[in-house]
Amino acid sequence: MKTIGLIGGMSWESTAHYYRILNQEAARRLGGLHSAPVIIHSLDFAPIAAMQAEGRWDEAGDLLNAAAKGLVAAGAEVLGLATNTMHVTADRMMAGIDIPFIHIADPTADALLADGFDTIGLLGTRFTMEMGFYKDRLAERGLTPLIPEVDRTNLNGIIYEELCKGIVREESRRIYVTAIERLAARGAQAVILGCTEIGMLIDDDVSPLPVYDTTDLHARALVEAALA
Ligand code: GLU
Repeated sequence: MKTIGLIGGMSWESTAHYYRILNQEAARRLGGLHSAPVIIHSLDFAPIAAMQAEGRWDEAGDLLNAAAKGLVAAGAEVLGLATNTMHVTADRMMAGIDIPFIHIADPTADALLADGFDTIGLLGTRFTMEMGFYKDRLAERGLTPLIPEVDRTNLNGIIYEELCKGIVREESRRIYVTAIERLAARGAQAVILGCTEIGMLIDDDVSPLPVYDTTDLHARALVEAALA
């Protein structure tokens, strides 16, 4: 199995989930005492969140590029970025890197298409919901993403003010469930948890639509790529 390089810390709460899933998936695939060979570069999220808020995406991309180069130098053979939002900088991050990069939207699109869905709700940070980088990639695969028409500020705030700090509130869960109900009423057949922390709040038990959790799908795809 190849060594997985993971750029995390955005937030560390979800990177902890990645670490667990990577190892569980490696054990499931290989059996016995197998676990995932993984090198994690976990960044300090505060300066990155400030760059996001101020639209300093190139600076953030250069920072991720330095982290990616460090992982390659340390022996990583497959690369993942453990946040949906920061994939806005994916091209800049991958400049000069020649190991495979598993884009988080791709295994998500694969899973939705395999299950026969085309119109899907997309929940995430306001960057992921409103900027083109994520929706366009899904659309290129033939999917029609719908984002919430109302409450996007609130949904975004719950990610940064609560989930990234490990805070899980029942009231916030209700706000997300209501957003999914509204997406369903507009024709969404399934919902993408397009932020790596939303799985802390929403799962198939509480969601009115089938859930596609990017953290889970991405981590499993990284193991798949490492075994290829
Ligand atoms: N982890 C989140 C995501 O998947 C949000 C935090 C960030 O902005 O990186 O988009």
